[in-house]
Amino acid sequence: MELKIAIVTGAGKGIGNAISKRLVEDGFFVLLVDIDKSNGINAVDEIGSDKAAFYLTDISDEKQVNALFRSIEETYKRIDVLVNNAGIIRDNMIWNMDTVDFDLVINVNLKGTWLMCREAARKMKQQNSGRIINISSRAWMGNMGQTNYSASKAGIIGLTRALALELGKYNVSVNAVAPGLIDTPLTEKIKKEALNKLIEAQPTKAMGKPEDVANTVSFLVSEKTNFITGQTIYVDGGKSIGAGV
Ligand code: NAP
Repeated sequence: MELKIAIVTGAGKGIGNAISKRLVEDGFFVLLVDIDKSNGINAVDEIGSDKAAFYLTDISDEKQVNALFRSIEETYKRIDVLVNNAGIIRDNMIWNMDTVDFDLVINVNLKGTWLMCREAARKMKQQNSGRIINISSRAWMGNMGQTNYSASKAGIIGLTRALALELGKYNVSVNAVAPGLIDTPLTEKIKKEALNKLIEAQPTKAMGKPEDVANTVSFLVSEKTNFITGQTIYVDGGKSIGAGV
């Protein structure tokens, strides 16, 4: 039987790690892409090298992304699923934010996702099959101190919708998942007081788990969801409803 290949970026820890493990359970051979070598290698050791492989890549670097896809083409010859999960935060109020922190967040979160989408789209169009999932954030709607991050995550939703239009007739679906507060190393960086306020403003009054996002990705790449494309699915404990915020 032919291997089903899934690529997950930012797979060394947090949500990307949970997505990788879930896709392995779903029968995919998963290519874990991350900028952090030791996390990536540890993650593959944990999953098993018969089910996963690690690729050290900075997704914001065009040359590295192109080399990644050349290498995948040589070894596996197909891509069934791409999950663009890698993302960073560099928070500050706009009057205190350095341009370098705006550029960095846009380059990793938005340009990196676009670079990965372009290479995957070329391959999936040729195959006439594929699924792309882009991890946005509920914060695309706006979060204090996150003008850079919110803009990058709103950009991902626009990119998802436009790419769904371009790839629809090639049997490739493109959807976004927008998590709310999820308990990962990224949210550990938020100050306790601010975190408690954010949790309080959320109808379900608790943080989500990386597996909550992973299960949604699993649903969107399953055979059962062929007819869903260009959508944004919120995994946010109801935060996007807006009541009480
Ligand atoms: P995380 O725990 O910080 O993990 C992100 C992973 O991506 C890390 O291994 C990180 O490596 C890697 N990475 C960073 N820059 C990269 C690059 N240029 N190329 C390749 N890999 C890179 O983050 P997370 O909380 O799991 O978040 C995953 C995604 O969900 C992000 O897109 C985030 O914006 C989104 N999200 C998260 C939450 C949440 O509450 N956690 C909510 C909404 C949306 P380093 O550690 O070396 O940087």
